[in-house]
Amino acid sequence: MSDKGKSSTISGFYKLPVEKRVEFVKNFSNLNDEETKLFSSCLDIGIANRMIENVLGTFEIPLGIAVNFLINGKDYLVPMAIEEPSVVAAASNAAKIARIKGGFKTECTDPLMIGQIQILHMDDVFEATKKIMNKKKEILHLANEQDKVLVKFGGGAKDIEVRILDSPIGKMIVTHLIVDVRDAMGANAVNTMCEALAPMLEELTGGKVRLKILSNLADKRIVKAKAVFDKEKIGGEHVVDAFLESYNLAAIDPYRAATHNKGIMNGIDALIIATGNDFRAIEAGAHAYASRNGQYTSLSHYYKDKNGNLVGELELPMAVGIVGGAGNIYPKAKLCKKILGIKTAKELAEIVVSLGLAQNFAAVLALSTVGIQKGHMSLHAKNIAVMAGAKGNEIDKVASQMIKEGKIKLDRAEEIIKKIR
Ligand code: NAD
Repeated sequence: MSDKGKSSTISGFYKLPVEKRVEFVKNFSNLNDEETKLFSSCLDIGIANRMIENVLGTFEIPLGIAVNFLINGKDYLVPMAIEEPSVVAAASNAAKIARIKGGFKTECTDPLMIGQIQILHMDDVFEATKKIMNKKKEILHLANEQDKVLVKFGGGAKDIEVRILDSPIGKMIVTHLIVDVRDAMGANAVNTMCEALAPMLEELTGGKVRLKILSNLADKRIVKAKAVFDKEKIGGEHVVDAFLESYNLAAIDPYRAATHNKGIMNGIDALIIATGNDFRAIEAGAHAYASRNGQYTSLSHYYKDKNGNLVGELELPMAVGIVGGAGNIYPKAKLCKKILGIKTAKELAEIVVSLGLAQNFAAVLALSTVGIQKGHMSLHAKNIAVMAGAKGNEIDKVASQMIKEGKIKLDRAEEIIKKIR
């Protein structure tokens, strides 16, 4: 139950017509009529034309709501923008199971991003490193001059680290500027600071600055989510064992780990997109983090507790913002942030990682038991029916006939349509 006494748990939500679902979300998140209308609107072409170049129109993907989420004792309805069937249902189901043992618990570092400034062509990289470290105070001061707003909110450049790297073209220095970006994703803020520091670092070192840009391997901005999944609810201890057998392949084999992590990103990307955040940045950070020990591996970790329940943990960098970027421009992204009721970027990051864990648990559970296709079939059958030309009521009729026959094929859908017309 949330602070306001509202619960995100609702049974049969998926059976409700769209209008009733909207009404539920409206009441849960205190949306007004104007905000509610946004669900069925498209992005204004004028806004789109200011966002990117050579605009022709907009591209819509479905927006759904995952229910049942209890994170750090608070109830959330989680908006998900995604085109893949079963993902929203799987997340909702996993969250329902996680609630039994208290839901998701998270931990989070400060929102520290890393900006990289590459310096080349120095006579002595060790001497140059010393000169940079001796001027740390001045460097941080100049960086913070670039973003007084960020500093006002308690953020700003906090530290520098210097790395000497050997490369095929000789030794170089990479200076890392560590910036607390508070409630922003931080790329623009960090890039501006790095560019401003370039002349000062060239003068200090006598070298030439080349790259000046943030790193998407945001490994100082880490979120961990944990949940306990009740063994009885998932079918008994033998299912927990089957789950762990499946998980262990992802832990040791990059071929499986890639697909395992894709399942995590199904949930994560859907919320990242719904809140107008940069999903390429999150993807890049996640996969780089999954390789941090030299071999690509699972981002999540599972084990059995002393009572035989399944414990899941997920840890990854989470560079998300609730101010700045495209999330400030999209009316629907603003709406999704209101649905979540979030106050800080940290809170959003914690929901994102909990959702990733829920998604991963649901996928591995299905794979370890009935297989992934069963859950996919109902929506997949509907999509095939539409592809075959079914309209209105025909879609459900054609889909359920194909599911009954266990034959979900385009040619069969066409035959059924002919028959019922
Ligand atoms: P931004 O510059 O639009 O907004 C951040 C700014 O908002 C801060 O610098 C600060 O001045 C201000 N601000 C106001 N209130 C704040 C608060 N409470 N906390 C923090 N800052 C506050 O956006 P950004 O977050 O710096 O950059 C994000 C954008 O950069 C995204 O759109 C992303 O796609 C893009 N980008 C990404 C990359 C990359 O990932 N490699 C590279 C370049 C650009």
